[in-house]
Amino acid sequence: MAAKPVIGVLALQGAFAEHEDYLRRAGALAVEVRRPDQLEELDGLILPGGESTTIGKLLRRFGFEEPLRRFDRPIWGTCAGMILLSREIRGGLPDQLALDRIDLRVTRNAFGRQADSFTAPLELSNLAEPIPAVFIRAPLAEPLSDRVEVLAEVDGQVAAARQANVWVSSFHPELSGDLRLHKSFVATCRSRSQGHKFQAGGQQA
Ligand code: GLN
Repeated sequence: MAAKPVIGVLALQGAFAEHEDYLRRAGALAVEVRRPDQLEELDGLILPGGESTTIGKLLRRFGFEEPLRRFDRPIWGTCAGMILLSREIRGGLPDQLALDRIDLRVTRNAFGRQADSFTAPLELSNLAEPIPAVFIRAPLAEPLSDRVEVLAEVDGQVAAARQANVWVSSFHPELSGDLRLHKSFVATCRSRSQGHKFQAGGQQA
């Protein structure tokens, strides 16, 4: 059987434990990431939901900013993680960290107080059936270039998207009771890790 891909979950603040559980059930080895040097060993990384201002401050304090701008393996930001990966942030602090890994202008807390948290079936263009999407003080975004592949929209704004190997979703897939997105991310990380190992093997031969 193929080796399991090693996928990190940034574990500085927020909903990281649930992502680890889903990743394991989806066939990956999940690792809690708290130091930038851990990024080297990973086949992929998830930035979880939580509080994007707090996570951004901790990322700067622990020296993650440049390594995450350069990280070349699949990376998936959910909710606060989506905010962190975007190019521009509306409703953030003046110096809030935006890693500029996807061409999105994201609006924090886009649903306002009336609809702070809710679950709704959401159709994604890469899934056959809708996913029960859990939105918790969720952001929504607008694309800033046609490099962004929009996977799902709510009220005409982006709720899930991809750009090359950067994935974002404004909801919490790790609370959905549905493993399909994690399985799909694990498969993406696995093909990358196998390509890598194959190359390494080829060099040795
Ligand atoms: N509203 C939070 C923020 O702006 C994100 C909420 C979440 O990750 N569930 O950081």
